[in-house]
Order: sequence, then structure tokens, then C-alpha cells
Amino acid sequence: MTDNAIKKIVIVGGGTAGWMCAAILGHYLPKERFEIALVESEQIGTIGVGESTVPPILELLRNLNINEQDFIQATQGSFKLGIRFDDWHQKGEQYFHPFGNIGGPVRASNGTALDFYQLWLRAKQAGHPSGLQDFAPAAVMAHAGKFMLPQKARNTPIGSASMSLHIDASLAAKFLRGHAEANGVIRHEGIVGQVHQHDTGFIRSVELKDGREIAGDFFLDCTGFRALLIGQTLKTGFIDWSDELLCDRAVAVQTENINPPHPYTYAQAQNAGWRWRIPLQHRAGNGYVFSSKHISDDEAVSSLMAQVEGEAVTKPMIIPFKTGMRAELWSKNCVSVGLASGFIEPLESTAIHLIYRAMDFLLRYFPERDCDPVLIREYNRRMATDYTEIKDFVVLHYCTTMRDDTPFWRDVKNAPVPQTLMEKLELFRLNGTLREGVDELFRAPSWQSVMEGMGVRPRAYLPQADQISQSDLEATLAAVSKQLPAFVDTLPTHGEFLRTHCPAH
Ligand code: FAD
Repeated sequence: MTDNAIKKIVIVGGGTAGWMCAAILGHYLPKERFEIALVESEQIGTIGVGESTVPPILELLRNLNINEQDFIQATQGSFKLGIRFDDWHQKGEQYFHPFGNIGGPVRASNGTALDFYQLWLRAKQAGHPSGLQDFAPAAVMAHAGKFMLPQKARNTPIGSASMSLHIDASLAAKFLRGHAEANGVIRHEGIVGQVHQHDTGFIRSVELKDGREIAGDFFLDCTGFRALLIGQTLKTGFIDWSDELLCDRAVAVQTENINPPHPYTYAQAQNAGWRWRIPLQHRAGNGYVFSSKHISDDEAVSSLMAQVEGEAVTKPMIIPFKTGMRAELWSKNCVSVGLASGFIEPLESTAIHLIYRAMDFLLRYFPERDCDPVLIREYNRRMATDYTEIKDFVVLHYCTTMRDDTPFWRDVKNAPVPQTLMEKLELFRLNGTLREGVDELFRAPSWQSVMEGMGVRPRAYLPQADQISQSDLEATLAAVSKQLPAFVDTLPTHGEFLRTHCPAH
């Protein structure tokens, strides 16, 4: 350990971001070398609406030695096999973005592994009646309202599905707080009134309104949209994406659960945005993400309230937001995480994922006190790549719509499409090729599913797909589309599975 080593880390903010960072750093950093403090204010409170997650959250739980069942019980959680999208391409149409693979492994007679999607494209060109999702185990289970842990059924037709969780965000923060505090993280209650800097601009300490001063070598800004350190103090710029994604507000409300919980997030397009429904064990989360240019707060609230199922158990809460990210997510000795670092609307439930990606990269590029610019540059590049990839994927859901029935959807059609996404679309339209990075969250089945759901189908398929005969191709598709639903039929419903496997406390 050098004299330059970081000894004290101060996390400002205790929402999902703050406590998730505290739990991760508390777990990975040796207690004898690091002191970790977290400051939060009950008076200010948290956003508390992030309830839908993506599969890597399960890996995070495993890495932190958190038992999945305990976590689901403590957060009143339910299982998520993907997202159902209604009315996005055209009103009345529906599609599914499943987690996990689509179709099983298929081999040519010489042993070559063939890409299932390409085989399916070939079959479609010959007029095959199937839908892509008929071959996605997660979609078939979701559609039937059935559930089984894919990892417990590896050698069955649903073995290549993947899953994630719906969680009560406030309970998740509480759970992670317990985990972090058990690992020695010290919590301070109070409102940060001032931030003190060294001559270099590095942050020296935060001062609470009651006069207490908490100094540190390294700071995490988890203060939500306030961005107290990264924005207000360090004045890093903000890359604004609101011309590409038009929604800038949400209304959220919790309701009682009157129907059995569905094992997917529901996202239905609306006249001026879209609404979500997320079933938990004790209640459901609902919201309408909308564009304030196209609908007023009052209209959005009444539209949402007219559509929710069950009685509201909270008052509708309006949340304004700005789509974009910090020009530098890490500046000087401060890394911004969660809403302080940026926000892409929650259509693909990626914000919580970006929190643990931030910690993953911080641990990989962990600095000394002087924060070498080489590390900062690399961290910012990696995180910006993640943000851009996710933003492109979310824009894809809009820019391919055929809807023009309201001013919002007409404006969506005229919104600029990022160059990176245009190039992905051009390539895909040719023969289904995807420009995949090595470490991307959304892999081929995700892009293929949304493309197909939004009416984007490649003009041609790749020649490898001709490696099997037409009759073998038809027999393969027929076998999967018969075995998969037959197996799914034998599974418990999602509600039954939850009751027996992980009933909430
Ligand atoms: P907050 O929850 O706002 O927490 C900020 C913390 O900072 C609080 O503890 C507050 O007390 C503290 N603080 C602020 N200022 C001070 C101060 N001066 N002194 C002391 N403490 C201070 N994500 C998903 O992954 N899936 C979803 O489905 C999803 N849905 C969403 C829907 C909407 C409409 C929105 C807006 C977000 C959604 N998110 C979702 C994002 C998710 O809610 C956030 O990423 C997550 O809650 C992290 O928030 P946060 O901790 O950064 O901020």
C-alpha cells in the first residue's frame, strides 16, 4: 500500500444507487484498508420506483453471497422472463422481448452449428407460419403464465431461458443497507449543505446542515437527479438525448394486486408515451412515461388511473426527468452513479444494471488518491459505451413504429435516429447480421426480438442456413414448437411457484 492509497470513500445518497454501491464496495474492498461512509437524508427521501431488472442482477446477488430466495422474499419480488410490448408497432399488435436464447442448437450433417435465427428466416421466406417467439422458452412460459427456474431445468425444453426479478425498490435498498452495514459501512443521517474542495478541485469533504463534516479521499455521487457533487459542485456537462427520446416525465402509482402476478413486465404504448405494470407479491407498480409537450400531468394521471387494475395504495407521483448522461461520469475524485450519472427512460429496465456496471468498472479501474487520468478516461469510455448501447436499443422501440395516430407518435417518427443505430439497422435489414460488442447487455436474441416485433425483418438470410434440407428444417421447427408448449403446460403457474418457492415475509 502506498501513501497515495485511498483510505476513505464517502458515498453521498442512500437510494438504490447509494446502497447498492455500499454493498458492493463493502463486499469487495478489504475492511482493514478502507473506511466507507454513506450519507443520506430521510427528509429528502428516494425516488424508489426502479422495480424491473435485467438478468445480470442474479449474478450480482451470487457475487455478493446473497441468497436469491432470501432476496426475493425480502423485496416481495416476483420473476421476470422478459417484457411484453403492446401497441408499439401498430395499435392492437403485441410482441415479447424474452430473456435467454431463442431456438435450440441445430447442427448440419457435417457437424457445423447453425444459427437458429437464420434458419427461421429461411423458413419464413418459404412461408412458414411460425412466429419467432414460438421458439423462445421464456416467451412461451410468459405467455402461458407458467414458471420454473431455468437453472433448475437445464436439460429440458426451457433450459436455455433466462430470467430476472421484479423487486420493491425501497425494500431492496433496505436489504442492501443491511448487507452493507454488516460489512462495516457507516451510515450518517443528514442533509449535505456544502461541498468543500481542495485547490485542485478535488472534493475534500461534505458538510451537513448541522455542521458535521465528513471528509474522504474518494466520493460517489448517488444523490439522484440533484447530482450534488458531479453536477452542482464539479460542474461536469450533460449530454442531452431528449431530441432522440421524447418522454421527459413519468407518473407512478402503486396498486393492490387483484390478478395473479404475470412473470413479465408489461409495457403498453399510450397516446403520448407508454405505461408499465410490474407485479410484485404484495402490490403492483404502475406508471405512465410521457412527453410533457404532448400531454399534461393531469391528463397523464387520469389516463393512467383509468387503466390500472385494483385500488391505488399510493398517491400518483409525478417524476420529471431529463434523458442523457454526464459528459464525464467520473470527474476528479468523484464517480457519479445512478440517476446522478444520467437517465434513459425505463423501457428496458436498465438503470439498476448501470449502477452495478459502474461498480464493476470502478473496481477494475480502482485509482489511488490522485486519480490517474488514464483510469478516468477508460472508465468514462466503458460507461459511455454502455449508455450508448442501451440508448440505441431503447430508441429502436420508437423509431421503427408505424403508428401515426397521435401527435406524439408523429413526432417520434420525425425524431433523429442516432447514427450508431442507423448503421445497426442497415446491417440487420440486409441479412440479419448484428454489430455486437463483446460485453454488451443486449445480445442477438434481444435485438432480433425487438426488430421482429417492430416489423424489421432482414431481406435475406445467410447461406449457412441452407446447410440442412428443407424437410429437416421443417422437422426441427415442428419438434420445438410441439415440445416447448407441451413441457410448459406441465409447469406451475407463476403465482403457485412464488407461493411455494419464495413466499414474501
Ligand atoms: P434516488 O433514489 O433519488 O436517491 C438519492 C439519494 O440521495 C437519497 O437517499 C437522498 O436522500 C440522497 N440525497 C440527495 N441529496 C442529498 C443531500 N443534499 N444530502 C443528503 N442526501 C441527499 N430502474 C430500473 O432498473 N428498473 C426500472 O424499472 C426503473 N424504473 C424507473 C421508473 C422511473 C419513472 C424512474 C424515474 C426511474 C426508474 N428506474 C428504474 C431508475 C431507478 O429508480 C433508479 O436508477 C434508482 O432508483 C437509483 O436512484 P438513485 O439512488 O440514483 O437516486
